[in-house]
Amino acid sequence: MRTKKIAICTKTPEETVKAGIRLARACSGVICLEGELGAGKTVFASGVARGIGVDEYITSPTFNIINVYEKDGRVFNHMDAYRITDPAMLEDIGFYEMAADGYVTVIEWADMISGEIQNCSAYVKIIYGATPDKRIITIEGSGELINSYAGGMK
Ligand code: ADP
Ligand code: MG
Repeated sequence: MRTKKIAICTKTPEETVKAGIRLARACSGVICLEGELGAGKTVFASGVARGIGVDEYITSPTFNIINVYEKDGRVFNHMDAYRITDPAMLEDIGFYEMAADGYVTVIEWADMISGEIQNCSAYVKIIYGATPDKRIITIEGSGELINSYAGGMK
């Protein structure tokens, strides 16, 4: 599939939440997040949750590996792949069904299990910017997705 990329710069966590909300409105399926500790993956994921209507407080799934939320029949899976050392663990948590079933699934540290992810709708990379609260967020996806995301920015 040919993909397209868009890069944005956020200056506050709230702006990163907004970027997540916008992405949730532009796509569904699996959203892969990459970025070092403290980059803002969980902040971005909370925006995705908001974008699909989940109003619960989103906590990092570091210890549970996966947190599942539901709102009006829509399911939001929030996963952290950092501690997945064996693909068998993915089977145990129902990962393969999750990726297939039309849910919205956000995977932090997706690069740790990249070989196991078949259908990623959007690939998001967050890096630190020049000042402490700046982040550069790159979103890669189909042309349609990126156009839709960019349209939501107006
Ligand atoms: P990760 O999940 O990537 O480890 P978190 O989302 O848990 O990171 O934490 C990001 C931290 O960076 C939070 O404390 C947040 O307040 C802070 N932060 C500062 N500026 C930004 C920004 N522009 N976007 C996202 N987070 C930011
Ligand atoms: Mg996190």
